[in-house]
Amino acid sequence: MVEQLRSELEKQEVTLVAVSKTRSNDQIMELYNGGQRIFGENRVQELVRKYNELPKDITWHLIGHLQSNKVKQIAPFIDLIHSVDSLKLLKEINKQAKVHQRKIKVLLQMHIAEEESKYGLLAEELKEIWKALSNGELDNILICGLMGMATFTSDQDKLKLEFTNLKNLFDSLIDNPVLTNDFKIRSMGMSGDYKLAIAHGSNMVRIGSLLFR
Ligand SMILES: *Cc1c(COP(=O)(O)O)cnc(C)c1O
Repeated sequence: MVEQLRSELEKQEVTLVAVSKTRSNDQIMELYNGGQRIFGENRVQELVRKYNELPKDITWHLIGHLQSNKVKQIAPFIDLIHSVDSLKLLKEINKQAKVHQRKIKVLLQMHIAEEESKYGLLAEELKEIWKALSNGELDNILICGLMGMATFTSDQDKLKLEFTNLKNLFDSLIDNPVLTNDFKIRSMGMSGDYKLAIAHGSNMVRIGSLLFR
């Protein structure tokens, strides 16, 4: 299953993040043995435990909300943080990255869903981030793209609009001089809507339930 999905996605130049939250080490190893190396977790404690217990050639992504006081626990090893939703958090990630003498890759999580409960930055809030970047306050951060969580709905038109909004925002930022060639990821789409997300501009999908069952 995982091989087939990954090769289908590879043909479209889309990266598969296997969302392994709540899954056991054995379940993760099944996918690992099918060649999967990128896994996403949404909670720091569970992520750190799995990082310690599982093979070291796994690339871990944090996809869930991150509190500033937990950044230090993942700073030594995290590959990509999808869920950066404030400048304050970005500054803390920068600080901890410096401690470990590395650069940490992040995505800016944008608020694309109409639902009020979802986390994410508004486009206006990006300005202060660009300012901090150009002032050299974030030298240990690599801004690698955007992430969006669509509304939990089966309304295809609504989903399409939300995905398209994120893609358009991404396109409008590509020429921003504070960003580098690292800015290329559009993380959107989950088990239920990944095909639609890809059709509307995603190049990184986060899939859990479809892979683990
Ligand atoms: C759980 C989760 C997913 C995966 O959802 P599935 O429907 O199981 O594919 C993707 N993104 C985030 C942020 C999640 O928390």
